[in-house]
Amino acid sequence: MSEIHRHSGHMYWPATMEGRSAFPSLTSNEAAKVAVIGGGMSGITCAWELASAGIDVILAERDEVASESTSSNTGLLQYCNDIMLSDLIGQLGKRRAETFYKACAKAVDKLEKIAAELPGDCDFARRSSLYYASSEQDLPKLRQEYEALAACGLNAAYWTADDIAARFPFRKAGAIVTGGDAEVNPFRFVHLLARQSVERGLRIREKTDIVKHETLPGGAHRLHADNGRYIDAEHVVYAIGYEPESLRGKLIKPDLGRTFVAVTEPVSDLSRWHGRFFLWETARPYLYLRTTKENRIIVGGLDEKDSNPIRGKKALRGHSERLLAQAQALFPELPLSIAYEWNATFGESEDNLPFIGEDPEWPRVYYSLGYGGNGTVYSVLGAELIRELIEGTADDNPLEPIIGLSRATLRQ
Ligand SMILES: Cc1cc2nc3c(=O)[nH]c(=O)nc-3n(C[C@H](O)[C@H](O)[C@H](O)COP(=O)(O)OP(=O)(O)OC[C@H]3O[C@@H](n4cnc5c(N)ncnc54)[C@H](O)[C@@H]3O)c2cc1C
Repeated sequence: MSEIHRHSGHMYWPATMEGRSAFPSLTSNEAAKVAVIGGGMSGITCAWELASAGIDVILAERDEVASESTSSNTGLLQYCNDIMLSDLIGQLGKRRAETFYKACAKAVDKLEKIAAELPGDCDFARRSSLYYASSEQDLPKLRQEYEALAACGLNAAYWTADDIAARFPFRKAGAIVTGGDAEVNPFRFVHLLARQSVERGLRIREKTDIVKHETLPGGAHRLHADNGRYIDAEHVVYAIGYEPESLRGKLIKPDLGRTFVAVTEPVSDLSRWHGRFFLWETARPYLYLRTTKENRIIVGGLDEKDSNPIRGKKALRGHSERLLAQAQALFPELPLSIAYEWNATFGESEDNLPFIGEDPEWPRVYYSLGYGGNGTVYSVLGAELIRELIEGTADDNPLEPIIGLSRATLRQ
């Protein structure tokens, strides 16, 4: 792996998978209908979607599959987004905001189907989420959000302080419970999906850093790798995570920061953790918690503006202890101790939406950049939209004006 990752610390997910597949590097010039750059959640999901549709596709990954943000990812799959539906309605109007939220709910359903057919277990499980008011002052906003979700026909209920206290060892002023969310081990998911995609015809080239992109006369694309070899393709998909500046970055300006995660040693009794719900809150940045198959607790948050991960062990431990203290305040009876801890770069877009679609100034060049806490759900939206754009069937896709690169909220 390359020396400098956009994460640092002791990661949990890679420790859960032995014998993962390795893929060859680009040792000769190759050609394909579509070339995907980036072997994380977004790139592999997109390549899987294309290969499953019988499209000839090659994928270049600078390092190893799932070695960047995908391995830092805490594996929450939620239809609710960092931007609340009620705020998104203010930004996009009711019809489009609801279209986007419903598409996210459908994407979780699709992830369940994909997970069920993978050649191995990725620990996919359906979960509900408890989205609680961080303070009394947030209650009117929370209530408004509940009404927006219910009006949209999404799976949501409103819980009072008593409802919460009856099911958890803590009390909060109110909460929305959303159903139909899910959890996954993102590292296993991507590795298994990569394996299945290869069975469907995808060529994966690891240790293949694309350093130059040339458009040939006639409009085809040539991607030059760092070892002098190249890939020719009719279409190119950028799924390069938080590195949009590295090649064609002028258009896309993510707001980069860093975020922290601690994973505990397994605990023996989670009976006071109602339904193993995801927990998150109205404050921004938010604290979030989930459990794992091994009865560990994952707690994340404490986002900071600096995009460079903290590399010192002592400084990282200080953050992990703060996260643990917040988890402990919610579950005072649980004996919590840190087993894994890391921090990683995290990207958000100005309008809180992912960048997915064709470059308005560069024909047959596409992006699947899932900024925000819902990157996995966005990678599914991205894969479908990009396949339709390549197949020429995207005219009716209602997401294009919402997440595409010509969208109004990007021009404002
Ligand atoms: C701590 C943390 C927690 C998160 N939790 C969640 C969560 O619970 N749920 C969720 O949905 N999302 C979560 N996310 C967000 C999620 O990880 C990302 O949004 C996204 O899904 C990651 O996938 P990706 O493929 O876009 O990016 P990455 O995994 O970063 O993949 C991009 C790949 O492109 C490669 N690459 C870049 N440039 C080149 C090049 N020039 N040539 C070849 N290869 C290149 C990189 O090496 C990398 O492997 C979290 C993120 C962080 C940091």
